[in-house]
Amino acid sequence: MTESTGEHRKRCIRERRIFYIHSRFGGFRGRLLLIPLLFGGLLVQGAKPLPADSPTSKSKGPFPNAVVLQGGTIFDSRRGLMVSDQTILFRGDRIEKVGPRQGFGKIPPEARVFDVRGKFIIPGLIDAHVHLVHQLDDAHITGDEVLPMFLAAGVTTIRDVGDTVVPQRLIARYAEAHSESCPRVFLCSPLIDGAPPIHRDIGWSLTDPEAVPAFVEDMVKWGATTLKIYAGTQRTVGRRIIEEGHRRGLMVTGHLGRYRAEDAVADGIDCLEHIWSVFNYIIPEEVLRTPDHRASLDFANPLARNLIAILAQRRVMVDPTLAVFRNMILLNDLESVNQHPDNALAPARLRQHWEEYRRRAHLDPATREVRRREFLKYQELTALLYRAGVPILAGTDTPEPYVPPGFSLLQELEMFVEAGLPPSAALQAATINNAAALKQESQLGCIEPGKLADLVILSADPTVDIHNVRRIEKVFRGGRIGEPRELLKRVPLH
Ligand SMILES: [Zn+2]
Repeated sequence: MTESTGEHRKRCIRERRIFYIHSRFGGFRGRLLLIPLLFGGLLVQGAKPLPADSPTSKSKGPFPNAVVLQGGTIFDSRRGLMVSDQTILFRGDRIEKVGPRQGFGKIPPEARVFDVRGKFIIPGLIDAHVHLVHQLDDAHITGDEVLPMFLAAGVTTIRDVGDTVVPQRLIARYAEAHSESCPRVFLCSPLIDGAPPIHRDIGWSLTDPEAVPAFVEDMVKWGATTLKIYAGTQRTVGRRIIEEGHRRGLMVTGHLGRYRAEDAVADGIDCLEHIWSVFNYIIPEEVLRTPDHRASLDFANPLARNLIAILAQRRVMVDPTLAVFRNMILLNDLESVNQHPDNALAPARLRQHWEEYRRRAHLDPATREVRRREFLKYQELTALLYRAGVPILAGTDTPEPYVPPGFSLLQELEMFVEAGLPPSAALQAATINNAAALKQESQLGCIEPGKLADLVILSADPTVDIHNVRRIEKVFRGGRIGEPRELLKRVPLH
């Protein structure tokens, strides 16, 4: 997460501040130099593809023969409905059968049977916006230390959206080898940016369109499934990234800055990261000159209407990441944010890092009301996009300050509902929509035969009250059972 570049940076004091904040430690750190150097070296030699460790490949290891969840109410993520009195049978890591409890048929005698009458079962949640290296590296935390927090929150899959490739891949490999405590991890390119990159640690300068094919080829070798365009990328490069990415079957997303939203959409981008990648392009010129305009923007203006219509028409997915805007950027001075009980689940080193950030950001109490209203505008735009038919993704930008791994996704869903989305739409964003953003609809995001057995058992109905998504009893990741309390014990508190 950072600001947008160019004219936005010059125009907007807040964005300058955020830029400073993001680059704060950004300041160059010698040891980080090693990573791009190593990366570059490997790329040069990387003639043959690296072995795949796909997060959806058939996992090895001790799995129960068969598990039956009998008589629960399950969330049909395609239709956005709860369906009562259903039974699910899975074997190994795959769902074999789903149907009404009555007349379900023979239960395999060796199966472990759970009576889940009165319980609610949703597909494993997916966080569409995670960085496994960036902040953690700054806070001296290895990614594996926080991975159990995701599973404990019912998040069985995460999409990295921009990190250095080598450590990212090592963390993903660890996660795949420890499926009992870690989510599935999908990899991304570094942040593809101008020169110099905004984030020197996880950015990658690409200024020549002719250099794009070789870069994309290397990303494929590294196992990335998403390419992330960042704020300094120019259109000529961005367009080529989209073309090459699509040619190689990758998804292309963008935290836009210089490359304007309407251009990126016309060029075929798949997703936009952060509500800013929409918001920043729908402010009329004359409004830009008025103070606090972000807190009072009228979305009935023609720029907004046009962009929203194009996004809907082209089915471009938008990942608002409200969690990072509220918790890190706009309202980190609220006790309800900086003392949120979810934060206490993270290692102390990470929490100290967040506190240090808050001290440096030093938000002025006098601007709090304007900041609150600005955040409400981000929620309002999210709801407008949803109502216009734009596919909404659920992402967080964890572990940016006060955006705790896993649990911030639950906060994101709560913020969607506060914004006016129905709880079922919030759940769809985190399941079937996010699966589509990963091109994994055939494996993830819904409870159907043939899908991976990634499931969350809740003790109350989240479509009645989204807060019930926190009432997690058990989590299955590829058929392996986990319990939040036990999973959290694996997270170091120091
Ligand atoms: Zn991010």
